[in-house]
Formats: sequence, C-alpha cells, structure tokens
Amino acid sequence: MNETGTPTGSATGSATGSATGSDGTVDVLTGGDSGAAWLSRYNGALMGVFGTPQRVLVRGSGCHVWDADGNQYLDLLGGIAVNALGHAHPFVTSVISSQLATLGHISNFFTSPTQVALAEKLLALSQAPAGSRVFFTNSGTEALEAAVKLARRNSTAGRSRILALDGAFHGRTMGALALTSKKAYREPFEPLPGGVEHIPFNDIEALLNAVDDTVAALVIEPIQGEAGVRPLSPEYLRAARELTRRHGALLILDEVQTGIARTGRWFAHQAVDGVVPDAMTLAKGLGGGFPIGALITFGEDASSLISAGQHGTTFGGNPVATAAGLATLHALEASDALRHVSEVGAFLRSRLATIEGVTAVRGEGLLIGFDLDGEYAPAAVQAALAAGFIINATGPLTLRLAPPLILTTEQAATFLDALPGILATAKTPAREAIS
Ligand SMILES: *Cc1c(COP(=O)(O)O)cnc(C)c1O
Repeated sequence: MNETGTPTGSATGSATGSATGSDGTVDVLTGGDSGAAWLSRYNGALMGVFGTPQRVLVRGSGCHVWDADGNQYLDLLGGIAVNALGHAHPFVTSVISSQLATLGHISNFFTSPTQVALAEKLLALSQAPAGSRVFFTNSGTEALEAAVKLARRNSTAGRSRILALDGAFHGRTMGALALTSKKAYREPFEPLPGGVEHIPFNDIEALLNAVDDTVAALVIEPIQGEAGVRPLSPEYLRAARELTRRHGALLILDEVQTGIARTGRWFAHQAVDGVVPDAMTLAKGLGGGFPIGALITFGEDASSLISAGQHGTTFGGNPVATAAGLATLHALEASDALRHVSEVGAFLRSRLATIEGVTAVRGEGLLIGFDLDGEYAPAAVQAALAAGFIINATGPLTLRLAPPLILTTEQAATFLDALPGILATAKTPAREAIS
C-alpha cells in the first residue's frame, strides 16, 4: 500500500483560496508565529492539563507532519491511534468536505444516509448477530459513558457491580473515570459513580472469584493501550466470555484503541474464536482523524436494555462525522489494510526485538509497546523528536507506537535505523545521574 496525501507545500484548496496560506495553514485567522511564540501564547490561553505541548504542528501529509518552524516528523503515534489513514488523506478529506458543504449537522431528531450506512457497516464488520444496534458518540469516553449506562440497566435481581481491570484506561469523564484504574486520574475527582471494582489483570483465578450473579458487567480492553500495550491472553478472553454468560453479566469490550484494523483485524477480539461481546466501544481510528465514537450492542438482549429517551447526544452521529467514518472504513478496505497492518507490524516487532536496550516487545499489528533497560522512555521521546520521529512513552520504561495504518515498511525502517542512536542519546543523562 502506498502512502497517499497532498503534495508538500500545496494550498489545501478552499473554494476561495483566501483562508489558507501557502503552507496550507489557516494563517489568515491565526496570524503566523514561531513555534516558541505559539507555545508561550498557548501557556497564556490554554488550561494546563496537558503541560506544555512538545511542538506546534501546522501541516500533515500521509505519515508526516510539519511544525511551525518547518521541521518534518515521521508520525509514529498517529494522534494516539487516531489517524488511521495518516494526515490529509485525499479521499477522507474530500468526503468530509463535500458532506459538510451538503449537510453538516441536523440533531438526532433526524437521521441521514451516512449515519444509517455507517451503523450498518460497523455491524457487518463486527459480525454482530441479528438485533445488534449502534449508538454514535463524539469520543471514546462518551462511548464508555453509554456502556456504563448499559451496565446499569442490566440490573435485574439487584445486580450493581461493574468489574474492570488493574491498569485499565477507559476515559476521563466521570463514568468512564470510575472504570479507569490509575489513582492519579481518579482520586482528585472522587466520589466517582459507585459499584466499580478493579481486579488483577489477566488473572483467570481472580476473575473466577469475582464474577457471580451480582455482577452487571465486566469491562475490558483486549490489549491495554495506555498501560503500555499489554494484551489479555486468549484464555482470559474466553474465560471472561464464559463466566459473564453463565452469570448473566455483560461482557463489554473497550476497543476504542484496538479497533478499526489497528491490530490487523477489524477488532482485536476477532483474533480469539468464540469471543462475541455483549457490547463494544469504538472511537479513535473510526473517523480517520475526525471525532466520532460508538457503542455497539450485540444481539436483542443487550440492545433492548436501553430504551427510547434513556440516553442521547446532540452532536453524536452527525452527517459529517459519520461520512468521515464511512470514508475511513472504505479506504481501509480498498487498500487491503488488514494484511498490510499485519505485515508492517510484524516487521517492526521483529526488528525492535533485536535492538540493544529493548528488553520486551508487545502488541499486535500497528499497536506496539516496547520496554527499555532503564527508565529513560520520556528522554527517548525527546531524542526521537530531535531526530524527526514522533513516538510516545506510556511510562518511564515503556515506549508506544500507534502509527497511521498506511505506514510503509520503508518508513518503519528509517525509524528502526535511527532508534539505536535515539536510545543512546536518551540514556546518556540517566547514566550521568547514576554515577
Ligand atoms: C483513548 C481511550 C479512551 C478514551 O477516549 P477519548 O476519545 O480520549 O475520550 C477510552 N478507552 C480506551 C481503551 C482508550 O484508548
């Protein structure tokens, strides 16, 4: 599969041409500035929840982005597993533009062809049985909020417990945060919605002890992305399916990060035979960079738990977002993305495992985590940026790659060739601090 995108330096052709500058940025509206100047303005205007951003980005094409000072980067994070087709993909861009120029927003008092077609497409790709249904949101955390409400509705005979796993990340709004395990994210905002218990990761014995007839739902990520790309074993997923079914609890799979071809399957759980969830959450890659999420309920029983009037959204599933989703899925299918992702992912993982300083490599397809022989992952992110690569640290020891699914083997190889130097640079200050 070839990387596609608009050619370097082209104006992003608006009808009038007046709102975009020669580098494609909307500089008539923003005014131009240097990276350093933008960051100081950022710190004076934006809420400080993200710290100071690493760079100010002005343009993207395929797997590359450019910053305000003209530096080019190979994007191996893809907006955190979002830019499935890279940046400024011509087909996705043209579908979004023409939908926006035709009908942009309508509210859910009305529907649109793109909304219906995307729901049907997702049900087909997820091989969902008859009676399955889709609810569209604008983000991952909203998909999890809908999932929490679904779990609350599975309340016959006083079921009130919701189980999640140690290390889980399910989002930042209050319901999703209750499912998220990290104390630093949770504690400043307690009390959170009640009834959630965290149980040990990938521990079938602990699962056996926890699941009984008082459990409304078990919510799990097939591969924990934020925790450093940690996969659940196939045995665990099968045990989770069997135990929840036996006890009338819902199995809810959070595939916000692992879904939409990221792992070389449409959805990560499809790697394990017999694991059909009761519900699945999606977001990140679904819109190819445009915000959209979804909750899919599998079968009549799960779908009938939430009835008319019990949930809603103003923006969710609007014509533009669902057109973006349709365009993304179409482009992925047309380019044989599942095979491509598996091949490039296998190449990256096998080469990573041979690099000095890399002690473990995990993941599937193009969701990859690897551990270092010391706590210098954040320094490696900085060294990678300086060398022209965007990567991510999920913790002091662990780096994550979640590049556009159109990444070529040649592009992956440029990173692998640079990585020993990046790690050596990153490790140096750590060594000095120890001695
Ligand atoms: C990113 C993520 C979320 C939250 O999605 P947002 O769009 O950031 O709200 C939820 N679950 C998982 C597994 C994620 O990776």
